[in-house]
Amino acid sequence: MNISVVIPLYNEEESLPELAAWIQSVMEKNGYSYEVIFVNDGSTDRSWQVIEKLASESEHIKGIKFRRNYGKSPALFCGFEKAEGDVVITMDADLQDSPDEIPELYRMITEEGYDLVSGYKQKRYDPLSKTLPTKLFNATARAVSGIKNLHDFNCGLKAYRKEVVKSIEVYGEMHRYIPYLAKNAGFNKIGEKVVQHQARKYGKTKFGLNRFINGYLDLISLWFLSKFGVQPMHIFGFLGSLMFIFGFIAVVIIGFGKLYAMSHGLPYILITDSPYFYLALTTMILGTQLFLAGFLGELIVRNAPERNKYHIEKEI
Ligand code: UDP
Ligand code: MG
Repeated sequence: MNISVVIPLYNEEESLPELAAWIQSVMEKNGYSYEVIFVNDGSTDRSWQVIEKLASESEHIKGIKFRRNYGKSPALFCGFEKAEGDVVITMDADLQDSPDEIPELYRMITEEGYDLVSGYKQKRYDPLSKTLPTKLFNATARAVSGIKNLHDFNCGLKAYRKEVVKSIEVYGEMHRYIPYLAKNAGFNKIGEKVVQHQARKYGKTKFGLNRFINGYLDLISLWFLSKFGVQPMHIFGFLGSLMFIFGFIAVVIIGFGKLYAMSHGLPYILITDSPYFYLALTTMILGTQLFLAGFLGELIVRNAPERNKYHIEKEI
């Protein structure tokens, strides 16, 4: 099979028939063998009935129904697990992404050798309250992930080589950072294609402004995981040791300072009257705590299934 189109959706009943027809016409025009996987993420409207109807009319259309609303990432992950096409394309169900982009995306993966091609909504039809923070968000994501050539990490329209989607696990709200996940799994050829974008035709957006707060927190988590995920001691042990040594040296200086003053008949105060003593003490305690956090982290990693996860590219 050439292409799997994975479409996560939550309450998008009005858009589905139009979207399905559009995708089918593009596929047929180009002669692709394909499947369209609608993942109904616990919709409370009639989306599922619409999918059932579409699936009964075409053998290419498949549907998965979640028992409740889990979020876009689990929906994508589920679609990725089922996808059988050589190239997997994801798009939103709200008709903001155009199926006409599929042939070019497919070509970039199969002929230009990209592992992942992300859409770039250069001209967006979204309110300013969304486009402005998005710019900031993408700049940060570029800096942290080191994927310098992407302008639109969270674009719903993306194409992947099959191995990519089978090697990454999208969870929580990590769909915003799939290129980063792919890069961490060793897929380096990540490209971008400027795509058409349209205003939402039906329904309304499913994500509020808290997407930006959660987005930043997730980015920090991913950065941490990719750097220290399997060796937390390397960060906590380092910081802990540094703080402890710093505090210890300070205590020694304070102690010897007092002994020196006493033996030379100079004025001196009780060590416990000096604010520096408390600062040094706190530093030592915090240092020990950090070190312990490192040990605990190592104990957790010891049991994590990801501790030795690798992806083989070739074998002879
Ligand atoms: N979506 C989903 N589960 C959710 C929220 C959203 O499957 O819990 C789907 C939604 O139906 C749409 C896509 O994810 O197909 C993108 O959502 P939306 O268009 O609301 O996001 P925006 O375009 O505002 O970023
Ligand atoms: Mg949308």
